[in-house]
Amino acid sequence: MTVAASLGDLVRDIEDPELPHVTIGDLGIVRSVTIHGATATVLLTPTYTGCPATEQIREDVADAVRSAGLEPDVRLVISPAWSTDWITERGHQRLLAAGIAPPPPADEPGVTFVDPPVACPRCSSRRTRLISHFGGTACKATYVCNACSEPFEFFKAL
Ligand SMILES: [Zn+2]
Repeated sequence: MTVAASLGDLVRDIEDPELPHVTIGDLGIVRSVTIHGATATVLLTPTYTGCPATEQIREDVADAVRSAGLEPDVRLVISPAWSTDWITERGHQRLLAAGIAPPPPADEPGVTFVDPPVACPRCSSRRTRLISHFGGTACKATYVCNACSEPFEFFKAL
């Protein structure tokens, strides 16, 4: 395995600061990891513009690069824009396991974050309703399930 490939694994294994047990690799935001001399350039596409987690992720990536003995050059790439379709299958499973409803495919007609039914991650009921467009973070909306009365967060589709 090349140094760039193993550093890539290290970077993709960093957990998102707001999504427990979901890595930035699961979210599909790591575009590339390249090494030139003593510098590692990591291109990231932020999930949501203005999401405060982005700065934290940048720092975590820079730390990972330094721990590999290289100088970090972490850049944000905003085009093409990140889409929830980039979340991997494992990422969907981990979001669900964390009690967060994963986003539907962005091109699925009639299903957007403002348009329930969103299935409850606990009991799968679609009798849910939106409480707040902004959950614990700007990236997620808060719903409540009418069937089991549990509130849950929904990762907004983009
Ligand atoms: Zn429920």
